Amino acid sequence: METELLIGGKFEEGQGAAERIVNPRNGQPIVEVPEASEAQVDAAITAAANAFDRWSRTTPAERSAALLKIADAIEREAEAYADLESLNCGKPRHLVLADELPAIVDCFRFFAGACRTIHGPLAGEYLPGHTSMIRRDPVGVIASIAPWNYPLMMAAWKLAPALAAGNSIVLKPSEQTPLTALKLAHTLADHLPEGVANIVTGRGASVGNRLINHPQVAMISLTGDVGTGRKVIAAAQATLKRTHLELGGKAPVIVFDDGDLSEVVSGLRTFGFYNAGQDCTAACRVYASDKLYDNLVADLSSAASSLKFNQPDDTQNEIGPLISERQRERVSGFVDRARAARHIEIATGGAQPQGGGFYYQPTIVAGAEQADEILRREVFGPVISVTRFSDVEQAIAWANDSDYGLASSVWTSNISRGMQAAARLRYGCTWINCHFMLANEMPHGGLKQSGYGKDLSMYALEDYTVPRHIMVKL
Ligand code: NAD
Repeated sequence: METELLIGGKFEEGQGAAERIVNPRNGQPIVEVPEASEAQVDAAITAAANAFDRWSRTTPAERSAALLKIADAIEREAEAYADLESLNCGKPRHLVLADELPAIVDCFRFFAGACRTIHGPLAGEYLPGHTSMIRRDPVGVIASIAPWNYPLMMAAWKLAPALAAGNSIVLKPSEQTPLTALKLAHTLADHLPEGVANIVTGRGASVGNRLINHPQVAMISLTGDVGTGRKVIAAAQATLKRTHLELGGKAPVIVFDDGDLSEVVSGLRTFGFYNAGQDCTAACRVYASDKLYDNLVADLSSAASSLKFNQPDDTQNEIGPLISERQRERVSGFVDRARAARHIEIATGGAQPQGGGFYYQPTIVAGAEQADEILRREVFGPVISVTRFSDVEQAIAWANDSDYGLASSVWTSNISRGMQAAARLRYGCTWINCHFMLANEMPHGGLKQSGYGKDLSMYALEDYTVPRHIMVKL
């Protein structure tokens, strides 16, 4: 198992404190990964800064070729990546292999193509006797900081557009889930010039903090918590770094009275509980029309309780455990506080199952009101709330009444109604009659405290480049 950091084309053990990496399925240690020392973080940034000049002047075709090779290598080793991701996160291996790996490979392939076809305004004479043209150039050294819920996918979302655009990068995976990024480091070293991509591991307070405060870093890209986003902004102000923030979510789901109940139930069973709900777009805050509410709570509760987890045969598992005991305590704290309110019913779940591992039962919280904590704060676990509405205007107002603004969905058999609601929802994405589906061609990112900046799509390439004006006096 690879535990070495990639710094300036060389592999070396971290010289900082050791982090114990734990298998969430049984709480057993997997391996210890020493984090980067301050000197190693600085060396990685210096290596990236030194590599920038040459890499930024490669042609899009050269960068594209490298990204395609990286994509091919990940595809070839998909089974090994799925093993590691499943081990480190507790995710069912067959789902990592079927859902995550193809999307990760395609992310590198998409940006390999996209960087060759960026368009812009025409060159022309906007002042007499002068020709103006626009270039889009890379930003510089990017410090990219990833979370634990989809470690390899988040690494891909950060690496592919940044590298395609001609930036150099220092990536820090979450201290809890570094294993696939450390494996990826070898693929990156095989196909990229020295120093273009560097991988350092470590905790936020030490390695992350040093990265975001380093004067040679031109841009910080974070996927993580809102509180961490605030720290990034505070650090960025010293040298006016650019920031790209993908923060949390609390996705509302509006189910109109003409929604197809069985489709809604099956959609919520999948998209509310995927990855044990540890997903910033998880369909977790349902507003159901009066007409459907009782049936929805009943059917969704039995659907949720049928989800398979912690089976000895992993191919049977539909969800995994939470990432850590700490995360499980956090989730169970939210549910216990909700249960204490008289108007709230825990329709199913609401407890830790028997046995080892950081599992939590798929849980349906019925009857919570808009002011309740369970509707306002991100739980990041297998918990869906269902709240009744009788007035569509009220449902849209409640859906929008959130500090978060990442994802939302609307379920109705009347597409005009769905489109009208979608136009009014203040979220980076609104799905109609589905949820959670992502395409590498389409932007992903939030409004409000879910952050700003887009992952995926041409918009990510724009975020990792700066438009520059070149003017020639004729
Ligand atoms: P987190 O903010 O605690 O950690 C994310 C990363 O930031 C980790 O690598 C961590 O080490 C680092 N970090 C923490 N403190 C830091 C600091 N002071 N300086 C620099 N780096 C620091 O979040 P998490 O618990 O790993 O992940 C869960 C969060 O991520 C949830 O809130 C979730 O909604 C969010 N998330 C958002 C998206 C999205 O696309 N919007 C995707 C996945 C996860």
